[in-house]
Amino acid sequence: MTPRAASMLERAGLLARHELDGATLAMHRTMSCFWQSNHLRTYDSLGEPVRIVDRLRFDGILLEKAVESGASAVRDDPVTRVCPGSPCVLETRSGRRIEARVVVGADGADSLVRRRSGRACNRLFGFGIECFVETPPGLPDGLQIHFGIVPWGYGWLFPRGRDVCVGVGAIGRRVSPPATRAALGRLIGKACPGLAERPVLRAAPIPGYGIDLSPVPGRVFLCGDAAGLTDRLTGEGIGHAVESGFLVARAVLEGWSGDRLFREAGRGCAGIVRQSSAARLLLYHPLLRRAAMRKLAANDKFFAGYWDLISGAVDYRGLLLGFLRSSRWPPASP
Ligand SMILES: Cc1cc2nc3c(=O)[nH]c(=O)nc-3n(C[C@H](O)[C@H](O)[C@H](O)COP(=O)(O)OP(=O)(O)OC[C@H]3O[C@@H](n4cnc5c(N)ncnc54)[C@H](O)[C@@H]3O)c2cc1C
Repeated sequence: MTPRAASMLERAGLLARHELDGATLAMHRTMSCFWQSNHLRTYDSLGEPVRIVDRLRFDGILLEKAVESGASAVRDDPVTRVCPGSPCVLETRSGRRIEARVVVGADGADSLVRRRSGRACNRLFGFGIECFVETPPGLPDGLQIHFGIVPWGYGWLFPRGRDVCVGVGAIGRRVSPPATRAALGRLIGKACPGLAERPVLRAAPIPGYGIDLSPVPGRVFLCGDAAGLTDRLTGEGIGHAVESGFLVARAVLEGWSGDRLFREAGRGCAGIVRQSSAARLLLYHPLLRRAAMRKLAANDKFFAGYWDLISGAVDYRGLLLGFLRSSRWPPASP
């Protein structure tokens, strides 16, 4: 979880610092980047840390808060049918029928609500796969990002204390799940050699849908992955899901128009996601990525800018402008 997402939760009064800490397994201010097997650079930030959260615990706390605030939670009975209208009608697997004035589809990358409410679902396919393995002896603390192991994506090692999350993710037309899985195997082999057991792999789609927040006639809203709010460069989506959830809640309670919701989101999560589509070209395009990697290796500017981005101090546009102003482009070889 980025510092931007953590501070948003705190500022909104949804989670107190100690509750956030309770769901946090590790905090990191150090990030090392690699191109294939070559170490490019390690950066230590003085800013707020990136948190590695226990997703079950974190999501559980949010659910508890919702129930404390008056929500009724229905478990183990997924929605199987969505009929927009006045009222909207939902049906669940057990045959339960729910009538609602407003529906908010926060149902993730393969959103049924999105598919059943007449919205565009053409997408740039994304896919992430990860596992948790015992921390190998001698693994340096800090986040590791591995570029050049899959096209249009990267691998990661996120130490969580006793274990480390190793994963690979990518978004794009060339993304192939078998190739992503093979890249994960190679990354595990290199970073954590001699594992006693084969790790359990967990995979999920990363949406590349167009951003769609507008309420369709029939008062059906979307947020998070369902609304296409996943960063196209990093795959990050927790913070955008939380932010868009807040925005949609305000839109419903305060009766915002679709245009107002679109504008407000454009100043935050939706704007960042839109810009990330352009920023990813600079990092991943075959004609540009070697220059970008040289730039990464050359000095701390990119990392400092990236930390500003994930802290919410700048957006991608600000990051790139600052970066271009401060350096020659294209860069010379180191
Ligand atoms: C391998 C991988 C690693 C990632 N790592 C990061 C990371 O480090 N940081 C980060 O910020 N993001 C990361 N992401 C992205 C992040 O997980 C998502 O962007 C984020 O979870 C989106 O939140 P959401 O609430 O929109 O959807 P989800 O978290 O997917 O939640 C959707 C919920 O809806 C429920 N649901 C779905 N369909 C139905 C139905 N029909 N009826 C009832 N309930 C339903 C699901 O059970 C689920 O609980 C990663 C993604 C992947 C695949």
